[in-house]
Amino acid sequence: MGKWGKAKMHQDDLLSITREKFNQAVKEAKPLFCYFSVTEACNLNCKYCGSDSKKPLDNELTTEEVYDVLDNIAEAGTMAVLLAGGEPTSRKDLLQIARYGAAHRLRMAVNTHGHFIDKEYAWKLRDAGVLEVKVSIDGLEETHDNNRGEGSFKRAIEALKPGVELKEIDRIARDYISDNHYGKNFGHSLGHGVGLSVHELPKVSNKSTYKAEEGMVFSIEPGVYIPGYGGIRIEDLILVTKTGYEVITKSPSASAEVITGL
Ligand code: SF4
Repeated sequence: MGKWGKAKMHQDDLLSITREKFNQAVKEAKPLFCYFSVTEACNLNCKYCGSDSKKPLDNELTTEEVYDVLDNIAEAGTMAVLLAGGEPTSRKDLLQIARYGAAHRLRMAVNTHGHFIDKEYAWKLRDAGVLEVKVSIDGLEETHDNNRGEGSFKRAIEALKPGVELKEIDRIARDYISDNHYGKNFGHSLGHGVGLSVHELPKVSNKSTYKAEEGMVFSIEPGVYIPGYGGIRIEDLILVTKTGYEVITKSPSASAEVITGL
């Protein structure tokens, strides 16, 4: 076989190998991310919107049907689901849906205009296992309101502001530990302010009267102590920022302090 014949064979090999690899990749490919529009309903009427529906459609999925879809999504190996719309928070069962997805090991997120997200609802989303909330901002106030209607910018920004009560943060941690059957073993406050001294106000406890404000630094240190056995406490330092918070502790949680009595 001449030089060109060999080259042709080599080319055919390469093509068949490439084709085989491609087919294998397609066969095993998993949709890692899913954008799931759970409703067409929305109270706004943005200029560029494709939903164009004030009310839910007649044939929108029921809660059970949404669960079925989430089952399929989880089965396909998908890792993250963004619940969107329309406006997903207009669905009364959104928290149930998020909880169902999170229980099926999906990383749940919500895409929203933010109008219905106040402090209480934000914590409910968090409790339901939502790890990320994306609030749509089109630009500065004039641009945003021009697209979405007067006052929309302020309402979206409100959804992003700090201001959560510190006793609420303590409650969330306490509920989580109680739900996992160690409530009676968590006997101290969740955290405290840090500044010139190691222990300062504000206290992060169930009696705290403080709200999170930009610039505050406090510890979050839930602990579980079992008499006669030992205990564990994981401590992080939190800086409250203009739009949320930043964990400023650099050491990984795996280095948590473990004290055993054995
Ligand atoms: S907020 Fe979203 S769903 Fe609602 S009208 Fe605007 S673009 Fe459409």
